[in-house]
Amino acid sequence: MSPYIKDFTPSDVTSGDSVVVFGTGDVAQLTHYALRSLGIQVACFVDPLLMDGVTELRGTAVVAPRELARLDAESTCLIDAWDHTRYARQPALLERFPRLFFGVSLLRQATFDRADAPVPTEERGRRIEHYAAQCAPLLTYTGQLRLRSLDVVVTEACSMRCVDCSNLMQYYAHPRHSDLDELHGALERVMAAVDGVDEFRVLGGEPFANPRAGQVIRTLTGFEDSRRVVIYTNGTIVPRGDLMESLVHPKILVKITDYGEHSRRHDELCAELTGRGVTWLSQKPVWTDSGRIGRIERSPQELRRTFTDCCVNDLLTLLNGRLYLCPFSANAMNLGALPAAPDDVIDLRTEWPSAELRTRIDALYNRRTPLTACTYCRGRDHTTPTILPAVQVRRPLPLTVVQGRG
Ligand code: SF4
Ligand code: SF4
Repeated sequence: MSPYIKDFTPSDVTSGDSVVVFGTGDVAQLTHYALRSLGIQVACFVDPLLMDGVTELRGTAVVAPRELARLDAESTCLIDAWDHTRYARQPALLERFPRLFFGVSLLRQATFDRADAPVPTEERGRRIEHYAAQCAPLLTYTGQLRLRSLDVVVTEACSMRCVDCSNLMQYYAHPRHSDLDELHGALERVMAAVDGVDEFRVLGGEPFANPRAGQVIRTLTGFEDSRRVVIYTNGTIVPRGDLMESLVHPKILVKITDYGEHSRRHDELCAELTGRGVTWLSQKPVWTDSGRIGRIERSPQELRRTFTDCCVNDLLTLLNGRLYLCPFSANAMNLGALPAAPDDVIDLRTEWPSAELRTRIDALYNRRTPLTACTYCRGRDHTTPTILPAVQVRRPLPLTVVQGRG
């Protein structure tokens, strides 16, 4: 598969062509809408994260990746860049299809004015621009190392203790807030080594549990090479003072996970944010069974698939001065629960020459082989069962420290 992909224009299809949309997420649904608005019919969606039993979306068939072999190789394929990351780790899946496109211009030029337009209006522009930013280095070669997102953990503490927290908060017996000097030093090193981060995601635990998190948020909104700073909160804390003030910025989006009765200050938080003009979005969660540490016996092929199909296998995470490839790896290693895996982590407390740090970040971000953590993770892909979210436990879960070979 060519590493560069063309931007789609309507003249790329003629009547009778079979058009396929890769993915079923927000961008894929917007792409489907935009194509239909131009009178272009979509033959099917293909989704590597296909949920069991889903066979149709927006009136169009959804097929699993195993069906790819049956598709006409001359199909015109428009793909979600997020899925591209996943497919790029499985190039054999796409190499049959030379007519591969991104839909950046298509989405930017579409008018989403019908009542059935997908994705909430306030989220739509952000999703399209995030997609466009992801596609940019793949549309034309720039030699850039631009990160799709970076998770910045400001605390290990949470106001809830969910037994299946995929960030493993249920295992922290003595959670601490992040050392802000260390965090700022690490951030500066990352930003000096890469060509930008599209989106910072501020999280914990519960980020508003750290009353000094505003200092971090101001630093992140101040980076010119970023478009958005998203704060993930569980709706239990209404920030005050400097922390609340730091949210009043056009780059900020507060994403509230609505856990119903557990999110006891949800409405108050929404009202406060609205009153200050802060953009926010509240969503009910859907959880997969991905929040336990324990060795899973898999063949080497199964382990590779667990990694390549994982929906967070490029979610770089900055935690306590170290950079990891995914939140599970970050927290399991931070808890000391896994065997040593020096290739899976970059210690940003070390003074790296910027070029060497860039090479290391590039290698971690574009990694093709499973992490040590994957052996102890249930995975996060379309085969992972969904579970009841936010079941609470009173005490931290016992932590079994895994010894020996990863
Ligand atoms: S899933 Fe639960 S425990 Fe984990 S960060 Fe969110 S609210 Fe906290
Ligand atoms: S440890 Fe592996 S499978 Fe688990 S979340 Fe991270 S990348 Fe995905």
